[in-house]
This record gives sequence, structure tokens and C-alpha cells, in this order.
Amino acid sequence: MDLTATAGVIWSYTRVFVLIFGTLTAAAFAVGSLAFGTWEWHHLALFFVAVAWIRASITLYNHRYFTHAAFEFTRLGDWTIRPLLAFGAAIGVQGPTTTWAKQHKRHHAHVDDWIRDPHSPIAPGGWLHQVWGFLWAHMFWLPNMKHDSRYDNTKGRDWLEHVFCNGLTYLLFGPLLFATIVWCLSGWLAVAWYFTAVCFTLHVTWAVNSVSHLWGSRPFPTKDHSVDCWWLAWLSPEFWHNGHHAFASSARFCHKWWQLLTDPEYLFIVFCSWLGPIALIRNISVPSAEQIARRQQGAAV
Ligand SMILES: [Zn+2]
Ligand SMILES: [Zn+2]
Repeated sequence: MDLTATAGVIWSYTRVFVLIFGTLTAAAFAVGSLAFGTWEWHHLALFFVAVAWIRASITLYNHRYFTHAAFEFTRLGDWTIRPLLAFGAAIGVQGPTTTWAKQHKRHHAHVDDWIRDPHSPIAPGGWLHQVWGFLWAHMFWLPNMKHDSRYDNTKGRDWLEHVFCNGLTYLLFGPLLFATIVWCLSGWLAVAWYFTAVCFTLHVTWAVNSVSHLWGSRPFPTKDHSVDCWWLAWLSPEFWHNGHHAFASSARFCHKWWQLLTDPEYLFIVFCSWLGPIALIRNISVPSAEQIARRQQGAAV
């Protein structure tokens, strides 16, 4: 028996279960403080700020910038908002950005292939298999993550990637650093509220992998099962997932004007590019109205 491989599997399962049950325990303390009246207003403020920061960092930095190169930072942006977003991604406890990007590239390359897609919910078989497919896509794929060098991301290999995207996520150093700062400022209950924000944003990200390939509308007839989930889009613009699979390298995830209300991160990108000599972002990629119309009729881009 290969003991090294067995130890690796046990370590993988252990850290994912610690992550799941650790953050759920924190959430139980936070909800308990609401029930027992021991919470304070700054706990709620910390929760909402942490959710907004992590959400923006995952969708803007890990996904649109790092994985799909949907826009670029200017030199000024490199030294201002890019470190802020990279640190926000680190405290979200979603692993190194480089690993996040590699797994997501595999997802796009083999979408809804039960064997090769790292987290497809489309399991072959009866209803029991489909329940397992949902749970697998939501979180049980994490301990079974496979690495494939074909999806190595060569983008952004500079000081910031090494310090923030990889360094701060090793051994949970970034989250522990942030939790220590929160503890020094406000104590254990505030730390519980921070990890409640981590729990919330983790399940939102995981639901994009599970729900957004199962239940929703398909304005774009893509070759996969991706769907738009309008009822979840207020939690994250990532739930315009069919639109994202239709135009993977687009900086804008939704393709109707009213849907922009759920994508403030895209409006932030546009705002940062409008600042003239102090612009923080440039070269934003979005499809034209004609490309969108053609794609809705089933044409390839
Ligand atoms: Zn997908
Ligand atoms: Zn993507």
C-alpha cells in the first residue's frame, strides 16, 4: 500500500472538513450572538464588509482577471487595488489563486464531462447518482482535486502573485493574519463573524459550480448545461453562468442592462478605467451587441 498517497488523501479530506465544520461552527456562534443579544453593530459591519471584499476579490481577481484575462491593471492599479483584491481572495480561504485558476480552466475545457471536469454535477445514473453529483460539484470534489500541468496559469508571475496569491494562502497564513488583526481590534466574537463571512462566500462560490449547471434559464444555447440563475444573482454576478460560458473572456457576466444591477463589480471595473491619467484598469474585454445576438441564435463566437 502506498502510505504517502494514503496520507495525502487523509490530509486533503481533513483540511476540507475542518474548513466546512470550522466555518459552520463560527456561523453558529455568530447566529447565537444574535439570539442571545451579545452582538454589536460593528460585528454586522465586519460581516458585510468581509462578504463584499471577498466576493469582489473572487469574481474580479481570481476569476475575471487571473483566469480569463478579461481586463488589465495599469501600473497604478498594480500598486493599489490589485494587492487589495489579491488579499481579499486570500482571506476568502479558497486556496491559492494559481490553483483556483487551474481548476477553473479545467472546468471550461471539459465542462460537464463527469470524468474530466473537476466539479460537474451531471452524474450518469439514477436519482441517487444525481444527488451525489450535486454534493460532489458543491464541495466533495475539493479533497479529490486533481492537478494537471496543462492548465498552468502563466499570467501574473510576479512579486504580488508570490506574496498574496500563493504565500498568504499557504497554511492559511492570510486568513490567520486577518483573524489575528480582527481579534486584536475586537475579540473572539468578531473573529467568529469573519469566519461566518468566509462560510457564506464559500457556499456562494460552491453553488455556482453545483446549482448553475442544473436549474435555471439558458439564453445562450451553449454545448454544456450551464444556466443563468436570476434568483441567486443578487448573491453574486457569477450566477449569470450561462452568459459566462457563452463569453468566458468577457469582463461583464450579464448581457442585459437591468442585470447590471447585480454586477456592481463590472461597474467598478468600468469606473476604474474612466479615471483618465489615474485610471487603475485598462483593456476591458466585452462582446459586441452583434456577437451576443449571434450567440443567442446558436452561432459560435
Ligand atoms: Zn461552469
Ligand atoms: Zn470562468
